[in-house]
Amino acid sequence: MIFEEIKESILNGAQFDDFLGQEDVQQNLKSALVSGHHVILVGPPGVGKTTLAKNVAKLLKPIEVNDCGFNCDPKDPWCPVCRSGKEVRKKVLSPEERFVRIQGSPDLTFEDLIGDIDPQKALKYGAFSIEAFKPGKIFKANKGILFFDELNRCPPKLQNSLLQILEERKATIGSYELDLKSDFILIATMNPDDENTEPLSDVFLDRVDVIFVNYPENSDVEKKIVMSKGKKLIDVKPEFVNIIVEFIRTLRNNENLDKKPSVRATLSLYERSQANALLNGRKEPTIEDILQSLKSVLVHRIKLKPSLDFKTTTEQFLEKEFASFVDNLKKSQGDYP
Ligand SMILES: [Zn+2]
Repeated sequence: MIFEEIKESILNGAQFDDFLGQEDVQQNLKSALVSGHHVILVGPPGVGKTTLAKNVAKLLKPIEVNDCGFNCDPKDPWCPVCRSGKEVRKKVLSPEERFVRIQGSPDLTFEDLIGDIDPQKALKYGAFSIEAFKPGKIFKANKGILFFDELNRCPPKLQNSLLQILEERKATIGSYELDLKSDFILIATMNPDDENTEPLSDVFLDRVDVIFVNYPENSDVEKKIVMSKGKKLIDVKPEFVNIIVEFIRTLRNNENLDKKPSVRATLSLYERSQANALLNGRKEPTIEDILQSLKSVLVHRIKLKPSLDFKTTTEQFLEKEFASFVDNLKKSQGDYP
């Protein structure tokens, strides 16, 4: 069982090395997985929810399965393809291949998630025969992680199908009930500020554990993330990274913003400043290089509160905030790059 495998790995000391900081988040995720619970990671975009979920898959081992579309265990195959008596090839799934992503959206269909009837096979075997069934993502995720990004963007009907699978390991397709042998860990995400969503039912929420993921807890952690994940195009002094991180964090705390800049914004500003320095023929980036890409990196990543919206544009707001940030920096340090 997949939960047994992850439990063993975590209890043997495996760590989420790709996700920096927020020890409480890491601890809660480990504890939920060791308990055999499905989880929903709740938090704003760009805080590492996907990284964390992928990291769970990395704790798994490569595994041999039948190449039948259902990832059957070669020792205990159950699907119609494997049972048809035909020779079925085996394949090895790497830990990365044991991570199956599904993007929650209003257009997501039952067929994407669970599967569909193959019309050609339906002619041969009959419209409601299991032999005619074409497996969806749920089966691709068999023996792995089903990463359901933005779960609350998909229609309530689909959320209910997923719930039924989690609960009863069954899905109803056409007129027959499909007895599901898909063994997966559901890691879903939700953005609490997303407006285009369908609320999850209480019944659903009662079947999962929720873990809140947030922006890096302090500048040091964010600096580490930027320096380890950001592209390095040129020599950058740690003090310069500090300036970028502090500016983004100042914006994040600005009460005039409805949408706050993510860690991706910090990373982007870090990379673009270096690129500008290169283009400007400098050996290292300066404040001027940040300013040059400020709008391009941030205008679309933040949103002013409606009360401020008609008084200023996002561009003006950014320029003003950055100028006053630099002013404060001058006052406090006297000298800056
Ligand atoms: Zn099979």
